[in-house]
Amino acid sequence: VVEDIGFPLLHGSSTDSVAAVQCSARGCRAAAVWQLRWNNPKIHAGSARKTWLACPDHRDSLGAFLSARGFLREVEPFPSPGGAVPGSGPAPDAGTA
Ligand SMILES: [Zn+2]
Repeated sequence: VVEDIGFPLLHGSSTDSVAAVQCSARGCRAAAVWQLRWNNPKIHAGSARKTWLACPDHRDSLGAFLSARGFLREVEPFPSPGGAVPGSGPAPDAGTA
């Protein structure tokens, strides 16, 4: 069950699976480089965290949505320094400018 907190941009894919490393914003296929850790105290235990992934373009909009509701807990780089994501491949924009 995916908690529905009414965010209009989400395409609804679960970030519980590491197979998806795309931005969580609906229709966005950009690679996620941020993870927004959030918690809805009405439905989650205090230490529980849900994670949304965000590309650079959507970090602010997703973060603002969560912040407005008091849900946002942490924003961290993705993947986490200590948590490698298998199969994510090389960064497409590394040194190609
Ligand atoms: Zn995005």
